[in-house]
Amino acid sequence: MTATAAKIDNPLLIGRGLPPFGQIQPEHVVPAITQVLAEVHDRLTHLEETATPTWEGLMVPLQRLQDRLSWSWDIVEHLMAVKNSPELRQAHETMQPEVIKFWVRLSQSQALYAGYQELAEQRDRLSETQQRILDATLRDAELVGVGLTGATRERFNAIQMELADLGTRFSNQVLDATKAYSLILTDPAEIAGLPPSLLAQAAQAAREAGHPDATAAAGPWRITLDMPSFMPFMQHSQRRDLRETLYRAMITRAATGEWDNQPLIDRILSLRLEMAQILGFDNYADLSLFRKMAPNVAAVDALLESLRQASYEAAIADLEALRQFAREQGAVEADDLQNWDLSFWSERLREAKFAFNTEELRPYFPLEQVLKGLFDLAHRLFGVTIVAADGQAPVWHPDVRYFQVKDESGQPIAYFYLDAYSRPAEKRGGAWMGFCLNRDRHQENGVWTLQLPVAYLVCNQTPPVDDKPSLMTFREVETLFHEFGHGLQHMLTTVDETAAAGIRNIEWDVVELPSQFMENWCYHRSTLLSLGKHYQTGDPLPEHYYQKLLAARTFMSGTAILRQLLYSWVDLELHARYVPGGPETPHQVRDRIAQKTAVLPPLPEDRFLCSFGHIFAGGYAAGYYSYKWAEVLSADAFAAFEEAGLEDEGAIAQVGRRFRDTVLALGGSKPPMEVFQAFRGREPDTTALLRHSGLLPAAA
Ligand code: ZN
Repeated sequence: MTATAAKIDNPLLIGRGLPPFGQIQPEHVVPAITQVLAEVHDRLTHLEETATPTWEGLMVPLQRLQDRLSWSWDIVEHLMAVKNSPELRQAHETMQPEVIKFWVRLSQSQALYAGYQELAEQRDRLSETQQRILDATLRDAELVGVGLTGATRERFNAIQMELADLGTRFSNQVLDATKAYSLILTDPAEIAGLPPSLLAQAAQAAREAGHPDATAAAGPWRITLDMPSFMPFMQHSQRRDLRETLYRAMITRAATGEWDNQPLIDRILSLRLEMAQILGFDNYADLSLFRKMAPNVAAVDALLESLRQASYEAAIADLEALRQFAREQGAVEADDLQNWDLSFWSERLREAKFAFNTEELRPYFPLEQVLKGLFDLAHRLFGVTIVAADGQAPVWHPDVRYFQVKDESGQPIAYFYLDAYSRPAEKRGGAWMGFCLNRDRHQENGVWTLQLPVAYLVCNQTPPVDDKPSLMTFREVETLFHEFGHGLQHMLTTVDETAAAGIRNIEWDVVELPSQFMENWCYHRSTLLSLGKHYQTGDPLPEHYYQKLLAARTFMSGTAILRQLLYSWVDLELHARYVPGGPETPHQVRDRIAQKTAVLPPLPEDRFLCSFGHIFAGGYAAGYYSYKWAEVLSADAFAAFEEAGLEDEGAIAQVGRRFRDTVLALGGSKPPMEVFQAFRGREPDTTALLRHSGLLPAAA
């Protein structure tokens, strides 16, 4: 076979259009990616030598060469998540380091950086969208140290290497410390209150840990610090002494002995500070916020403080309600509730208040009905029509559906795949929206063409069994709405420059706006009733369930908000004001912040920072606040519909079109505050979030 023939035979080399999933096999990955990488390295070298500082001479060819690699590699990444196999994993592992090397080379290219700078000098010739893309490109290049030279550059690179290594060690040590601890229960008196699902899981964990005869009924039972074991134990165990033991183990995880993360925390914080200062920032928080919507640390502080003031009293009342309830149940600990009692008593109170089981709702939410209700909502709000297009695109599994999105005039504007069901053997857990194709207007051989966006919506719900359709829990319905919200932003974009179309080039702390916005509609009465119909009888969801869902939404919300504020503020404080080696240790910083954000203070030996992987081993450093930041925006956006009148179809259609034409359409082409103001007519406000959380009186 000649090289040319091999090239044509490999479906991962097509480089455009929908992926031919039916033909792609793991053995295609290594030859295709090797060939594409060689090609893009050559093209990059050529571009570095010949680029002219114009949009067409630099940014367009740069985009095209990135697209060349992304088209092939993104398919591999997608299949890793939905059609995993040992062969694919092996191929992915072989090529991933090479792919990363290419992106590092591109991001640190001095020649390209010089080109961006020259282009920036004539920015007036560029469109607003192009300017924003160029600014982001320049900024990203600077943040990876491209502007540094000599010893400074060497030091910067050494810090990057060490930080990457420290992050990996941090999360490995959390894993190892978690693995090393377990509570083996052998006496039936020790399992009082535990639900059957936890007992089954704990017996299985015991069998895997050298108790081959363990059974759910007779034990032994092995409880661990993994969330799926720890959380239900804390919620249901009637043995207060064991709850305390497990709780204390949890808060001192990875804080002593061979897996002690404390020295790593100190080192990470001081390296981040040094790195930020090399790049010209005062501290790491300033660096982190440089690429976010939040303008500065003071703005984040102000948001956190306003949420704190609104939720603190409510959290005190939550604790008092738990005490009162425990007293009524005759609990000896009622007047001395400790940290290890809170989950237990919240669960008891929740059961007493909203006596229903999540399983009971499933028959009312068959997938087909939920999709019908969701598509109908999209039609009412945004004027788009969604129709089945199965068979028009190759799929990676027979259960995967394909849909077309049309605008008011009936023109197709986007497509999406829906991979709804759980397939544990080959599919990752969780739910997500991914890009298959991005909207892109570009010239090909002198002719302008438009590539329509195509999204992947992936969930993990119960598959149909026998003649029963897929029946969803309410949480799964919310998840589908959430991912669909991300999908809408990807699909309803009107931006033609692909680097700013859809979700691309949107600041990290606003990406959750459309997704959380869509979740609100699950609590909108007529929308929920249009989704919720019994799969056998067609009966609507009974009113009492709707009322309980509404009430459960705000249960203990003051406490929940306060906990997020503690995490957000500790993160911000450690990256903005903490002085490595100074008068306060990181744990003392935590204690100081807990004084204003925790109704029950942490124990003196609490070392939760040692397992706070989000900020020490993940991407959330000086960014944990983003959860709340985006929630303020999404709640405030939904409030625009409430103000217009949720039962007034004409009014919500009008506001819906405005949401579509701003938040959903403009993508990363404009600053997020400008986009939000274009929709809302003013800056965001926390009132709606507080009202939805039950912390303010309901709207009149
Ligand atoms: Zn999301």
